[in-house]
Amino acid sequence: MAEEKLSFETEVGRILQIVANSLYSNKEIFLRELISNASDACDRLRYTAITKPKLTAGDAKYRVSISTDKEKNLLSIDDNGIGMNRGSLIKDLGTIARSGTSGFLDRLSGDDKKDMALIGQFGVGFYSVFMVADLVEVISRKAGEKKAWLWKSDGAGHYTISETKKESRGTRITLHLKEDAKEYLEPIRLRNVINTYSDHISLPIELMSDEGAETINKGSALWTKP
Ligand code: ADP
Repeated sequence: MAEEKLSFETEVGRILQIVANSLYSNKEIFLRELISNASDACDRLRYTAITKPKLTAGDAKYRVSISTDKEKNLLSIDDNGIGMNRGSLIKDLGTIARSGTSGFLDRLSGDDKKDMALIGQFGVGFYSVFMVADLVEVISRKAGEKKAWLWKSDGAGHYTISETKKESRGTRITLHLKEDAKEYLEPIRLRNVINTYSDHISLPIELMSDEGAETINKGSALWTKP
């Protein structure tokens, strides 16, 4: 299937530039942002499925799972939430119809140092991945739809979209980690970041290894208790 090349909205380009050149020390927050998006995507499906139970198609056990490939330098965050189709990928990841991020833009001063500090305050959501990755691939299939899409970008102004295959609904985000971000291949580092920022998340966050899936966050343990 043909690959389409598209440009980010100007404002997104500006944010990406700041994020990519950021000396921001707290890079680890990218994981908090991705886990929070994954958890929102599961909540949105859970809500939508109240009136359209068919959407969950026998898999209503929501979870976020994290896996690594040390040889290839890859970190993946996978959810079985609502997913995105081609239109959502373009709108949600390519434009800036979002309150949080436009608030960030309103406060940009043009002074790089101050602007970088703003990243910390606002958290620019998904785009924070470009602090640690030089290539990001998003494979997504919207619940209830058959087609799946691959969104790809190096965060430098453009992204591509093409049709792909995905067995089940939801979103898988794969980060090709930068040389100086290889620490996010280490289970001990990932556990630490998840415990720091995402412990309260109420669905299981699983870290995958050769031995299987280990649930990291305590928030999920709370509601599974009687
Ligand atoms: P925010 O979460 O503040 O809206 P983000 O930049 O983090 O901003 O994400 C932009 C949008 O992309 C989200 O609002 C959501 O609609 C969509 N999105 C991001 N990640 C996912 C995901 N894992 N599943 C479904 N939609 C997602």
